Amino acid sequence: MSGRSLAYLTSRSTDEVKGIGPAIAKRLAAAGVGSVTDLLLHVPRRYLDRSALFDIAAVPLGEEVTVGGVIETISSRRIRGNRTLIEATVSDGTSRVRVIWFNPYLKLEQGAEVALSGKVELNRGFLEMKSPDVDRLDRPDEDLVTGRVLPVYPTPAGIRPARLRQAVDNALRRSRPITEVLPAAMLARHRLLSRDEAMAAVHNPQELAQVAPGRRRLVFDELFRLEVALAMRKRRQIDDATGVAHTVDGLLVTPFLEALPFPLTGAQRRAIDEITADLASPHPMHRLLQGEVGSGKTVVAFAALLTAVQGGLQGAVMAPTEVLAAQHYLVMSDMIVEAGMEPTVIDRSVPDGQRDLFTNDDATQPAAAGRSVRMALLTGKQAAANFSARSVRPADITRWIADGTVDIVVGTHALIQEGVDFADLGVAVVDEQHRFGVHQRVELREKAATHDPDLLIMTATPIPRTMAMTLYGDLDMSVLDEMPPGRIPVETRLLGTSPADLEAVYRTVRAEIAAGHQAFVVCPLVMESDKTEAASAVAEFERLRGVFPELRLGLIHGQLRTEDKHQAMHAMKDGAVDVLVATTVIEVGIDIPNATLMVIEDADRFGLSQLHQLRGRVGRSGHRSFCLLVAEPTTEEGKQRLEAMLSSTDGFELAEEDLRIRGQGTVFGARQAGIKDLKLADILRDAALLATARQEAFDLVAADPALTAHPEIAEEVRALLGTDVDWLFKS
Ligand code: ADP
Ligand code: MG
Repeated sequence: MSGRSLAYLTSRSTDEVKGIGPAIAKRLAAAGVGSVTDLLLHVPRRYLDRSALFDIAAVPLGEEVTVGGVIETISSRRIRGNRTLIEATVSDGTSRVRVIWFNPYLKLEQGAEVALSGKVELNRGFLEMKSPDVDRLDRPDEDLVTGRVLPVYPTPAGIRPARLRQAVDNALRRSRPITEVLPAAMLARHRLLSRDEAMAAVHNPQELAQVAPGRRRLVFDELFRLEVALAMRKRRQIDDATGVAHTVDGLLVTPFLEALPFPLTGAQRRAIDEITADLASPHPMHRLLQGEVGSGKTVVAFAALLTAVQGGLQGAVMAPTEVLAAQHYLVMSDMIVEAGMEPTVIDRSVPDGQRDLFTNDDATQPAAAGRSVRMALLTGKQAAANFSARSVRPADITRWIADGTVDIVVGTHALIQEGVDFADLGVAVVDEQHRFGVHQRVELREKAATHDPDLLIMTATPIPRTMAMTLYGDLDMSVLDEMPPGRIPVETRLLGTSPADLEAVYRTVRAEIAAGHQAFVVCPLVMESDKTEAASAVAEFERLRGVFPELRLGLIHGQLRTEDKHQAMHAMKDGAVDVLVATTVIEVGIDIPNATLMVIEDADRFGLSQLHQLRGRVGRSGHRSFCLLVAEPTTEEGKQRLEAMLSSTDGFELAEEDLRIRGQGTVFGARQAGIKDLKLADILRDAALLATARQEAFDLVAADPALTAHPEIAEEVRALLGTDVDWLFKS
């Protein structure tokens, strides 16, 4: 084994590095730096070019600058609001600057040599810096950094920056030259530095200009490793799986599509064709169906489910919330009835008044296609089946899923619980994937006994292309990029909270209701808990009852019992309610075409994709629709989100913007199960490199699926991506 490959160095712990004892190793490990490889990939967050330090006496005022000097005096005291003020004077021999911080955790002492980055202002004749970034320049040991450029590392609490800088330098000296793993031709094609050159350039640059090419190589490596893993995963999913070749020319799908009251959009047609081709093939499908709210994903998904059913297999739909599961169940049941395929039924578990939704007057008629489709709903609290003439319990549904009585079951994550086993699951649809983790996707698939079902993941949150290449890089993609005809874009306006603005909001509400339409009012987000959020929704509901005594108001929030949520939804759907006051439970899925007005209170506090989702609840008919954002934004990000909402109705554009505003960290979050976080790459900034790395990785795996000709790449992917990818390498 080569002694200096990154793969090998993952097995060496940081405390083997000179300058790192057990205590520091522990702190580093807690920050995710466990091995020498981690340490080498712990790259500086910025650099101090010491030749570019300003003399304090000559510093330009009001500009971002870095000055260096020694702390002459420092003191801290408590100030109003239980805050701590730290005051220091720093001198570099040319002059001195007064520095203040409000950070009680700052650990600095008299005599420390520091670099301060920030703006210098003049305050009553004194130079002053407020809360500058501070880096320690003093290093007790020998002068390690030979260049003028000092790397500044992100430093976990409890470790001195100089100590870390020294340790990384030691690790690098011991490990060089770092072994190359990529083919020379690949490096040449993309003008990439060797790995060893790149490491030196990033950690120990002689000039700032060396950093970017070094970084580019390390970013490429990180993305390449990820894409190789994704390419192999995709390949494995095909090779290892026993899929079902579905009957695509059966008795259900064609009559269903023909019975639709509208022609399919071109995009729907295309998606159905792509899915049908997947279903006909013996390999299991792994496909992501992306489409804006209202683009008509349900029809596409339902066609896939019916393909399973017409061949005698089962379909399952997993939705993120009970409300959404129930809605899918109702909409799909209605579709069956409309297509003349459903034979009966009154379900006594459904409260009076909703029963019509489950009833087909032609109950005794044989199904037009000669086949009934038996649907069931299974959520944590509720069960319903539209083929049973009696009241059902979850246990009944579970039994009917297991013995094949149920053709299509719609549910929440209740579907992947212990004890739910399918007789023969053929197609699984997961709605709103971003609410589930990757492992839940896998769990649903594993509910099939004898083979791997085809999997369709639906998302209404458009995913920027770069993110699709990483987060969902092992999935095929269908995009509904065309809205059904007759949709008029929602007109969006921003209003403040002055009495005049609020009066304008109320006027709009009254006008829309007077025109025979309906409205949603979404209450401010309450962070503390669902309970307080519900309480605030109730309070807002009461307040609005006072504002609109002449209107019929409804209320829906997360703390309501499932039946009451359904009741509220149905009342809105049936037109018995003019204004539905809601929390974000209505964010996804709710389909009420007659609603033309969405009012979002404290809109600056919602995320951009959430705002977009909420706006998508209106504009679902041919009527002009409005979205009123009511807010006095207090943060820059809040302002940016509202501006984005005003300037675009395109979900993909907004998703890119959201990624830009929030940064990828929050977007990936815990969802990236199975793949470690990207440490160096920024998928927006490095989008071009990502595309390159993906192409190279997929080409490599296509030509050499087990990487037999490139064992060092295989070893590296396995060593650096960890146990999550182990299964890729088992034969
Ligand atoms: P999504 O799930 O993508 O948000 P839905 O499937 O709920 O969208 O469809 C939104 C609405 O558009 C539904 O009322 C549906 O019946 C209708 N719809 C779907 N496809 C078409 C089409 N091709 N033409 C007209 N209306 C359509
Ligand atoms: Mg939908």
